[in-house]
Amino acid sequence: RKYVYDFAEGNKDLKDLLGGKGANLAEMTNLGLPVPPGFTITTEACQAYLASGREPDGLADQVAARLAALEGAMGKRLGDPDDPLLVSVRSGAKFSMPGMMETVLNVGLNDRSVVGLARQATGSGDQADPVGGERFAWDSYRRLIQMFGKTVCEVPGEEFEHALDEAKHARGTRDDLDLGADDLHGLVEAYKKIFRKHTGRDFPQDPREQLDLAVRAVFDSWNAERAVLYRRQERIPADLGTAVNVCSMVFGNLGSDSGTGVAFTRDPASGAQGIYGDYLANAQGEDVVAGIRNTVPLQELERLDKKSYDELLDIMARLERHYHDLCDIEFTIERGKLWMLQTRVGKRTAAAAFVIAGQLVDEGLIDLDEAVHRVNGAQLAQLMFPRFQLDHEFQAVARGIGASPGAAVGKVVFTSARAVELAAEGERVILVRRETNPDDLQGMIAAQGILTSRGGKTSHAAVVARGMGKTCVSGADALEVNVPARRFTVAGQTVAEGDVVSIDGTTGNIYLGEVPVMPSEVVQYFEGTLDPERTDDALVRSVHRVMTHADQRRRLAVRANADTGADAARARRFGAQGIGLCRTEHMFLGDRRELVERLILARTDDERETSLAALLPLQRADFMEIFREMDGLPVTVRLIDPPLHEFLPPLEQLAVNVAVAQERGEDVAKEEALLAAVRRMHEENPMLGLRGVRLGLVIPGLFAMQVRAITEAAVACARDGVTARPEIMVPLVGAVQELETVRAEAEKIIAEVVGEGGVEVLIGTMIEVPRAALTAGQIAEAAQFFSFGTNDLTQMGWGFSRDDVEGAFFWRYLELGIFGISPFESLDRDGVGRLVRIAAEEGRAARPDLKLGVCGEHGGDPDSVHFFHQVGLDYVSCSPFRVPIARLEAGRAAV
Ligand code: PEP
Ligand code: MG
Repeated sequence: RKYVYDFAEGNKDLKDLLGGKGANLAEMTNLGLPVPPGFTITTEACQAYLASGREPDGLADQVAARLAALEGAMGKRLGDPDDPLLVSVRSGAKFSMPGMMETVLNVGLNDRSVVGLARQATGSGDQADPVGGERFAWDSYRRLIQMFGKTVCEVPGEEFEHALDEAKHARGTRDDLDLGADDLHGLVEAYKKIFRKHTGRDFPQDPREQLDLAVRAVFDSWNAERAVLYRRQERIPADLGTAVNVCSMVFGNLGSDSGTGVAFTRDPASGAQGIYGDYLANAQGEDVVAGIRNTVPLQELERLDKKSYDELLDIMARLERHYHDLCDIEFTIERGKLWMLQTRVGKRTAAAAFVIAGQLVDEGLIDLDEAVHRVNGAQLAQLMFPRFQLDHEFQAVARGIGASPGAAVGKVVFTSARAVELAAEGERVILVRRETNPDDLQGMIAAQGILTSRGGKTSHAAVVARGMGKTCVSGADALEVNVPARRFTVAGQTVAEGDVVSIDGTTGNIYLGEVPVMPSEVVQYFEGTLDPERTDDALVRSVHRVMTHADQRRRLAVRANADTGADAARARRFGAQGIGLCRTEHMFLGDRRELVERLILARTDDERETSLAALLPLQRADFMEIFREMDGLPVTVRLIDPPLHEFLPPLEQLAVNVAVAQERGEDVAKEEALLAAVRRMHEENPMLGLRGVRLGLVIPGLFAMQVRAITEAAVACARDGVTARPEIMVPLVGAVQELETVRAEAEKIIAEVVGEGGVEVLIGTMIEVPRAALTAGQIAEAAQFFSFGTNDLTQMGWGFSRDDVEGAFFWRYLELGIFGISPFESLDRDGVGRLVRIAAEEGRAARPDLKLGVCGEHGGDPDSVHFFHQVGLDYVSCSPFRVPIARLEAGRAAV
């Protein structure tokens, strides 16, 4: 197997094998750009090493052969005492993981080659600079021992830093640049002692051994703690491994005619065109990152070195034309000669992504299909979060980590219980904790936002909040949180329970008091209050353009989950093409709950019929409202699916009430009857109990009432000139016989109500029980459509409770990498997805015109939308706010 590729052998499409950096170095090499020669060791070599704990067979020989070729090309040998070739050894995974893995520079220096390097760096003739040359060589050597010691041999970095500080102290300076060659020579000796003390051996003098150990250290760094954390955060698979780039060194620290810099080909924050970059003369890359000295704007380079500047601009323009995208680059100038060290398609903000996509279309570099690819639903979601309307009045009192975006305002509470209590009273609350744990889940759900003084982007609070789409600022360490006293202090001020704060989950800013919130421009556009043709907002114009094209291209229709006229209306404004799920049990909350309670507990036909008769007109009015808003579009109404415990009073509470009343000698006959009934109906496991179709089959007249209400509403609408297209959906079906029973009754009622009127009512089922998916062929005989209920399908497919597990143990599963993401958030393609695929295929085989949709939460998840496109569903249905995201992703899946 080929493990080593010369830069000239690769190209930008080989990122899986060569990593992002290696693939792009290869691409630039082949474009004829000035890239220092080198080679890349593949990710496959890393994977093999990580699997077996040793370098794969053949790797050493291949490296030797490549190294020999490199030495030939450069006319120098690695570590040669007279004129050494030095190399850098850098990590580079498929996805950029900035600063997470290791780099070793100046490999090839030892006690002898440092002398040769000094001589070479001194130069000759008029330009000769023996002082500078010596200094440079010893400085390079001490950097090697330091980096190598730290990254390859785990020598504590502070010891080197400490020695460096001492050397500076002895010289009476704070600036590295004031250290002369002798100081640095002395520092090398001190570093070597530190190295020996910690490793029990001398610093390796054999250049090839240095190289091999550095390569191995880069491999190992794939599993360094921070890299593991970062991958989990960014959802980068844990098994990719990193490539290793071995590149001949060029030096930006050889004097004032040398330097190093970074640049973007346009502004990554706004997308505006121009020259964006920083330059630092007489420095190496790490100096820029470490912020040792202040950089100057890239424009300055024009004055310092016009030739290199012009060449750089020319290369940047070429790269943009070649990659058809914004690029970021790293470069070094060595004695007036420009070298390109890295390029990649640059990271950018969500807003810039849309703006740049539009610009590139205008510039003719990409077409609209490509523009749709260049943005994604997650970015669009970010642009839809409400924003704080900030003016001079509001100054942040502190700043934490923007862990989950959004703008939340509410009264401060310090315990989960208090959050639940106040929220139940209709208050908006912000849950403030030092850090959260699974016990806080209820409070997190009840709160508008979560604020913690500890923990980063992967803390429990952050992970869970993101999962719930809830605003979260974590790790605000300026806050002194005192939970028992129910207050926190920040910047000398005390904030007590009940005081109002505002937190911005995007920037991490924390404000005291209520900052007004406004819908983002993008939401105003979707709402129809901001005209894209009339605004000079480049972002809105770009969003409009991309969305229009996505709509033209997508095959999947997008519907919304909505249970009220208001939600339906918003969904329609946001582009929904119908309703994919109207959860009728949501229509029975509030004051109507009692009607359902009575119905469920009814012991006589009379009691039951009275409650049903009371419910019918209410239901009919509900449906008419929704049908009107969705005039002409299909509306899937799901027959009632309440887990019983959501509708019955809690058993314990009831028992206590009865006991207390008895104690007082009150008449409790009615309460006792209720208690007995609730006891009779009590279930240990209500989510797997009497719900969905089972309830419909057990309680006579319940489904019939709903079918009648739906059909009567449709007929009444038709009379008003409104086209209602109801689709009646039966929940929780596991066997075709269940559906057949419900259907027979429903068809009779529909025929009776519709009579001659031209209203068409479809009857279909949810596929949300694994058995339904596996017997979809049979079920399709009785169903005109399927809608996948992926919430229950996930719950029952995995066998874990959707109401309990997210806070209880998912954080641990995420930590362990068992999930990259909660399967309730993004469809588990391998397992639950397989059930969907089987049901779609077998359902269609039995009934070719079977309509297929999905109405679980996954209908609005970008990755899941792509999957539903692939398995050939007709539509996805999601919450109104996710409709634009689903439209965009459906378009992306199709182009
Ligand atoms: C589902 O199970 O995916 C579904 C849409 O139904 P509910 O979430 O109401 O159980
Ligand atoms: Mg369900």
